[in-house]
Amino acid sequence: MSDRLALVWFREDLRLSDNPALSLALKENAAIIPVFIFDSCGIHTRPLGGASRWWLHHSLESLQKSLAAKKSRLILRQGDPQKILPQLLKETGAEAVYWNRIYEPGGIERDKLLKKDLRDQGVTVRSTNGALLREPHTVANKAGTPFKVFTPFWKHLSTLEIDKPQPDPPKTFSSPSDWPESETLADWKLLPKIPWDKHFPDRWTPGEDNAAKALTQFLRQSVTSYQKDRDFPALHGTSRLSPHLHFGEISPRQIWWKCQASQNSDHPSLRTFLSEVGWREFAYHLLYHFPHTTKEPLQEKFRDFPWRQSRPDRRAWEKGETGYPIVDAGMRELWATGWMHNRVRMIVGSFLVKNLLLPWQEGEAWFWDTLVDADAASNTLGWQWVGGCGADAAPYFRVFNPIRQGERFDPEGEYVRRWIPALKKMPKKYIHAPWECPPELLARAEVELGKDYPEPMVDHRETRQRALDAFAQTKK
Ligand SMILES: Cc1cc2nc3c(=O)[nH]c(=O)nc-3n(C[C@H](O)[C@H](O)[C@H](O)COP(=O)(O)OP(=O)(O)OC[C@H]3O[C@@H](n4cnc5c(N)ncnc54)[C@H](O)[C@@H]3O)c2cc1C
Repeated sequence: MSDRLALVWFREDLRLSDNPALSLALKENAAIIPVFIFDSCGIHTRPLGGASRWWLHHSLESLQKSLAAKKSRLILRQGDPQKILPQLLKETGAEAVYWNRIYEPGGIERDKLLKKDLRDQGVTVRSTNGALLREPHTVANKAGTPFKVFTPFWKHLSTLEIDKPQPDPPKTFSSPSDWPESETLADWKLLPKIPWDKHFPDRWTPGEDNAAKALTQFLRQSVTSYQKDRDFPALHGTSRLSPHLHFGEISPRQIWWKCQASQNSDHPSLRTFLSEVGWREFAYHLLYHFPHTTKEPLQEKFRDFPWRQSRPDRRAWEKGETGYPIVDAGMRELWATGWMHNRVRMIVGSFLVKNLLLPWQEGEAWFWDTLVDADAASNTLGWQWVGGCGADAAPYFRVFNPIRQGERFDPEGEYVRRWIPALKKMPKKYIHAPWECPPELLARAEVELGKDYPEPMVDHRETRQRALDAFAQTKK
């Protein structure tokens, strides 16, 4: 081993286990300096949303503790990585930089430039894959072009070799004789000034150890019923690993191999779960090959779609005051916990895009700000799926009926009652359409529509037709 000192640049890989950049740096160098750079523009090119900032704060705190237990540290710096990294190399005398690749637009270009600049200055730069089962440039269809449909994508990917996770890192890391100065997490003020995050800790504990615990618990308790339960938002039927995966507190390879080693490895439900992890891979595949889709629809015919503009309508949706209980419950769950169940994400998305005819980009932006798992790839895929304008999307003419969706996936109204206490006493028959409830029953349920809970802001049937008419125009 050389006597070289190296920087390990952490980004969306806030973990020590199965971290290939870290493992390689530890193998090839005498000592390492772990670094995290907070760009004022976020980790990449878009400012982080409020909920992501909350998660990042706690995840970094947890990484700092894990590194301290290894007799190491995490050096925090704020600013442009293109300036900070050369500066840190100079300050410390380090001669190499290691990182795991990211795939968001802007991030790839920035990293390429940085790699070239550093190499031109004689610095060794090594980048590795720490975020995906297979990187997008290694997956193509028979014609050698990117996949645009999920099923063949996943069928193909499932036949490819998936690397095993890295062996566990050593008990202690070799450190430099002098540590460079570090800013503090408190300096960065990542936590919100208004305490809208006060209930987040009831639901989440960011950090690598808790990501591993969430996976173990899910595999032990819920995976065999995943297929049956995953669409019912009142149940805790899914893994809730998404923010841990987004921040790289756990790797998809760790999930993949833990599933293969599980006693239920052949269970169809476990296969369904892995295919959902596959949707995340597909999202990155699309983002990498079609980076413009974060702003523009993949299907060009939707570019000139006649969207409406209405700030009051958008605000009613954001605040969970549309008058459609399943939509409002979802939006209130999002605000209170930084997360929303996947089935409900589809329902609230369809409501915004189709019933309100507001641009999918507005929904994407709200999710970006409020989700703890906000992710450029999965959020873009989700919104273009909902809008019917992306790859392998729901057809535009399929407009979710929020009443039927509620009746089907929240049959007892348990989810709605949990998030809309005003409807706690509503009879089950009317819980998804309170405006149809006879006045005497409404009075008994102590609900005055328009006061305790809003009247529906639009008529589903009329707005469904409006969406279909707009779609017919687009087809021309
Ligand atoms: C409009 C819309 C926006 C979305 N925005 C995001 C987002 O910003 N970040 C995000 O991680 N997911 C997003 N999703 C996908 C999905 O809703 C979440 O990944 C899922 O709800 C997370 O819960 P879980 O971890 O319990 O999932 P599980 O059902 O346990 O699935 C396991 C993992 O697979 C991945 N996954 C599951 N479903 C999907 C999917 N449809 N697309 C991509 N990956 C998936 C996630 O990483 C998830 O953690 C969005 C979906 C929609 C419809």
